[in-house]
Amino acid sequence: MKEQKIDLYKELKKYFGFSQFKGLQEKVVESIISGNNTFVIMPTGGGKSLCYQLPALVLDGTAIVVSPLIALMKNQVDAIRSMGSEVGVAHVLNSSLNKTEVNQVKADIISGKTKMLYVAPESLTKEDYIQFLQSVKISFVAIDEAHCISEWGHDFRPEYRNLRSIIKQLGDIPIIGLTATATPKVQEDILKNLDMSDAKTFKASFNRPNLYYEIRPKTKNVEADIIRFIKQYKGKSGVIYCLSRKKVEEIAQVLQVNGISAVPYHAGLDAKTRAKHQDMFLMEDVDVVVATIAFGMGIDKPDVRFVIHHDIPKSLESYYQETGRAGRDGGEGICLAYYSYKDIEKLEKFMSGKPVAEQEIGYALLQEVVAYAETSMSRRKYLLHYFGEEFDEVNGEGADMDDNVRNPKKKTEAQNQVVTLLEAIKDTKQ
Ligand code: ADP
Ligand code: MG
Repeated sequence: MKEQKIDLYKELKKYFGFSQFKGLQEKVVESIISGNNTFVIMPTGGGKSLCYQLPALVLDGTAIVVSPLIALMKNQVDAIRSMGSEVGVAHVLNSSLNKTEVNQVKADIISGKTKMLYVAPESLTKEDYIQFLQSVKISFVAIDEAHCISEWGHDFRPEYRNLRSIIKQLGDIPIIGLTATATPKVQEDILKNLDMSDAKTFKASFNRPNLYYEIRPKTKNVEADIIRFIKQYKGKSGVIYCLSRKKVEEIAQVLQVNGISAVPYHAGLDAKTRAKHQDMFLMEDVDVVVATIAFGMGIDKPDVRFVIHHDIPKSLESYYQETGRAGRDGGEGICLAYYSYKDIEKLEKFMSGKPVAEQEIGYALLQEVVAYAETSMSRRKYLLHYFGEEFDEVNGEGADMDDNVRNPKKKTEAQNQVVTLLEAIKDTKQ
């Protein structure tokens, strides 16, 4: 068989310059090359792109890569080209191309030069494109950010729901779904919607042993508390997440007044200011970015030492993504979140204008946040359990890296009484 002749390590070196695969990459690549429907669940930064790019480069035909954002696609295609590949090896097909450009893309695909064709899901619905793609050899379809197919994910996109029927029109083509969303509900949705219950599934661990998780009750002293915390980390990089733009501005100012170098970041600032503040953070001209969730997508600063949530996020999914921006280099990463039930009520109020189905999902996700914030068990265990992963809270990596494990909560009066009662019973038995 052809695939057995491929020396994957040689190809890895040739196209990407790496000598080793990361984590499950090799197994995933083998699965795709063998023509299986394949499902890949890996945390952000895990190296999902290579999982489909390498097979695309070595297989006959063109791989279609579905990705939700034009900016993301452009980044990927630029990255592939910067590896020294020919221009035509990867193309983006979207509505911004003129007729001549579209014809060039088509010619490159027909000649076999194009190994990857990046498309947005809405472009794929175009009759003209479907007809063209039916006439050429497609190696497989990779669906990146596959959680967009699920209402339970953090980024539902209805266009993703049409993908299965479009792919069917193109023929019997293997599908590769990739996501960093690990909740069992979202995974189920992906497999169901893509009609690939037979998919070979590869799931990496979501444990981040170098992150320390702590939840503090949110009192009116929260700002002073944050300032005290940051002053312990003078000169270190950190991100503070707030729910509203107004809060972002407020906190950024309070920090500045207190001698902490901080800039705000939110979608209400013009693009130039946003880019400037982001660069200042990356270049270490400022220590702290105070931001809404608009900040972070695709920002890869390895030495972020702390992520503070001034307001608790609306799902554990978001919490995991946002805290995950700390300690990318494997060094210390403190994840501190302030929690009050009042904030949960605020989030519930935001949702009350939404369609009922969306509200129900929103409430369910929030309840998980509440349970996580209020639990007295190992936070890492709780978080990983939420992602369908078992964690050994005694011997697991990073087991002692949270507030609950380091400082077990004092038992409440009532619990103490139960314990005393149990001990009394035990005593009488002895
Ligand atoms: P994901 O999509 O899972 O978030 P990416 O595909 O963007 O992750 O990859 C994250 C980083 O890991 C990239 O900088 C990429 O170059 C790097 N990477 C991927 N595979 C390898 C490898 N085998 N060896 C070294 N670095 C790798
Ligand atoms: Mg990715």
